[in-house]
Amino acid sequence: MSKVSDLIKAEEKRQEETLMMIPSENYASKAVREAVGSVLINKYSEGYPGRRYYQGNKIVDEIEGLAIEKAKALFGVEHANVQPYSGSPANAEVLFGLIEPGDVIMGLKLSSGGHLTHGHPEITFSGKFFRSVQFGTKDDGVIDYDEVEKLATEEKPKLMIVGTTAYPQILDWERFGKIADGIGAWLIADISHVSGLIIGGVYPTPVPFAHIVTTTTHKTLRGPRGAIIMITGKGIKKDIEVMAKIDRAVFPGLQGGPHNNTTAGILAALIEADTPEFRQYAGQVVKNAKSLAAELKKGGLKLVTGGTESHLIVIDLRPDLSGNVVAESLEKAGIVVNRNSVPNGSSPPFYPSGIRLGTPGVTTRGMKESEMRIVAGWILKVIDHIKGEKLPVEKEKRGEFMKNFRARIENDDLLNEVALEVKDLCKKFPTP
Ligand SMILES: *Cc1c(COP(=O)(O)O)cnc(C)c1O
Repeated sequence: MSKVSDLIKAEEKRQEETLMMIPSENYASKAVREAVGSVLINKYSEGYPGRRYYQGNKIVDEIEGLAIEKAKALFGVEHANVQPYSGSPANAEVLFGLIEPGDVIMGLKLSSGGHLTHGHPEITFSGKFFRSVQFGTKDDGVIDYDEVEKLATEEKPKLMIVGTTAYPQILDWERFGKIADGIGAWLIADISHVSGLIIGGVYPTPVPFAHIVTTTTHKTLRGPRGAIIMITGKGIKKDIEVMAKIDRAVFPGLQGGPHNNTTAGILAALIEADTPEFRQYAGQVVKNAKSLAAELKKGGLKLVTGGTESHLIVIDLRPDLSGNVVAESLEKAGIVVNRNSVPNGSSPPFYPSGIRLGTPGVTTRGMKESEMRIVAGWILKVIDHIKGEKLPVEKEKRGEFMKNFRARIENDDLLNEVALEVKDLCKKFPTP
């Protein structure tokens, strides 16, 4: 066997034997994976269905056309562009398509659960090429809509880009729509994390209130890595013009040939999402997250916003622990989560004070509330076991501390024991 296939086999084993609890991850179906690994990867198709710059695109046109129609039907929008390579390029394309460099944009801070592409200062295109104004959350982690409105009225952004990566509550799309309309701004709803929940009917859709909706296709939606930009048809702007602007920003503005294999994977995922089984999965994702949250709270952990209404939970580990020690210990125990900032935390992103975990992956495997209670028990046990492993306050000592900590947990009996129990549970819930 080749080195590459050995490594893929090893990753397959890792995914089978551990709990995927990073809320942006999921297990794509075999149909989706087959599409992505298909001969469609061989074809060049710059342009759009019916207007390509290359010959030989009859079948690709059909695939992309079907993906567009399916996206329009499922999300209830006027137009969809399925070519963006991923979520970050999709957001870049919307910004470049609708406004000019130097214009004011507004979004939720990364540390409060926003995304880098929503105007994170300095290190991202969205903070470099636009004048970015950011709003946060109250100390309890909940968005203060009056504050958002006040800031929007003062700063008059041309565009508001609203969406979340680590916000457990439901966004008030109607309120964001009113705020944007009040200042004549574009409202972009970035539903990357929750698009599967929206199609499944367990999270409200922004479509009546936003002008544009962007989403990745690989999170709760369970497709390949890619993204869709949608024009909602909300009345106040000219939709035909908007559609043309967005299409031109994607190609030739920021991209070249579309990844046709991904387009086919998106089509496969959208077909799967239009089934009762998918709606059942979406509902169970939220039920599982709520059940997990309740158990963790009962065990004494502090949850950002007090709980969850979606697929994810953020645990505030202050003051005794940090994201790094907990995330690495849980990984050792077979529970894969990620460290995450907590609202108004002062720690840097590399050493944040919380962890973020979610239920899409384990729900795809078929786990339900009773399994969540078991998983919560393991998480509590691991966290209790490493109590006192406090990250040094001095920045320069943190790297060394983590190195020593890693060595300390290398052969830890309790963590190894939990990992074996996790493996046993995983056997009963095969990956697709
Ligand atoms: C994941 C995500 C993105 C970026 O997607 P990539 O595919 O990683 O570039 C953008 N916005 C939000 C809200 C996301 O959750």
